[in-house]
Amino acid sequence: MDSNFAFLLPVMMLIFGCTFLIVGRFGSREATLWGPGYLVAAAAFSVPLVDGLLGERRASLVADALFLISFVFYGGALLARFGQPSRLALRLGFAGAVYAGILYAVLVRGSIPAEFLLDDFGCAALLAFAIVASLKRMRHAADRVLVAVSGLVVADTVVRNIVFVFVVPSYGGHEDFIASQYAFAMQASASVLALVFALSALAAATFDTIVAHRDAAERDPLTGMLNRRGFDRLAGERKGAEGAVIICDIDNFKWVNDTFGHGPGDEMIRAFAGILEARLPEGGLAARFGGEEFVVFLPSTPLVAAADFANRVRLTFAAVERKPAGGITASFGVAGASAADHSLYEQIARADRALYAAKEGGRNKVMVEGEPPQDMSGPRLYRSSQ
Ligand code: GH3
Ligand code: MG
Ligand code: MG
Repeated sequence: MDSNFAFLLPVMMLIFGCTFLIVGRFGSREATLWGPGYLVAAAAFSVPLVDGLLGERRASLVADALFLISFVFYGGALLARFGQPSRLALRLGFAGAVYAGILYAVLVRGSIPAEFLLDDFGCAALLAFAIVASLKRMRHAADRVLVAVSGLVVADTVVRNIVFVFVVPSYGGHEDFIASQYAFAMQASASVLALVFALSALAAATFDTIVAHRDAAERDPLTGMLNRRGFDRLAGERKGAEGAVIICDIDNFKWVNDTFGHGPGDEMIRAFAGILEARLPEGGLAARFGGEEFVVFLPSTPLVAAADFANRVRLTFAAVERKPAGGITASFGVAGASAADHSLYEQIARADRALYAAKEGGRNKVMVEGEPPQDMSGPRLYRSSQ
């Protein structure tokens, strides 16, 4: 191996190992497996640098073991990423058996080619096992890139060893081959592939971590529903899509809190969120904007249908049996889009005015801004345009 490669690879693996451990601290389970994998690989690539200390034969056996261990970690990271069982005992048992074969090849048979072959195929098989187990679990582009690059690493190993077995004899001796241009090109491609592999694993783990944190930032911890930030982003992604907006607010909630305590109050908020989400049609957005106030966006929905939706939520919520608090109700304001609106928030403000009118009108009501719904019992009408 060229001395530049011998020096560069352990440093790069060390950097990747540390980077993965940092990403792991942000909650990525797979990164906590890639990290040690790359640190062990850094140690494996460093072994040739300390040949003199161990003696070539022993150094090579140490490197073989380290490579197998690093691939046990890589396979574990892939399995963890795709939510598959780790099967650690099985994979460790396989790595142990391969290593026993390596010891036999080197110590008993004195065969260096067999040693290389066993170690390479052992590593490739550990990775291939995880790839096959993960194939059905790919969801987005980062997954596909990672699995494709992992597949390339396996294919490269297989091709390299086939060439090694069939081409090396024609070079006359092992030493000739090691010194050849061909061997250099093979090492170079394997090294580049190792870097691309590490990069795609890092990109995938980082991508998942960012998405997980963004999702957490856009969700309300009490109900698991979107919060205002999440609602804004998702509504923004549908720029141009018109629909109905409903604002919901639990009635006399301050009294509920003061009388029964914060815990039962929270429970009521969760119950309301549960009803909203269970009834929400496909494509609709529902968010907790704060306290006991919720906003619903129903794309391409006429006011009549939106008011009907609100009325059904109102009836369901009011019908829930509550031991200490008795019948708790909620009020609703509904508004449609207007050609003059500059943003969804103008429509939300109109729905808010309708909600205010529902509260003024005695609570436990659905108030609709604009045209009156034709056939609906229960809701009263509010015309903000007049
Ligand atoms: P109205 O019928 O007019 O809506 O009366 P209200 O008492 O519901 O109105 P208001 O908006 O003044 O009261 C909301 C209360 O909600 C005030 C606050 O203590 C309580 N609250 C806000 N966030 C939470 C929460 O996360 N959990 C609980 N339990 N209470 C909350
Ligand atoms: Mg309220
Ligand atoms: Mg309120």
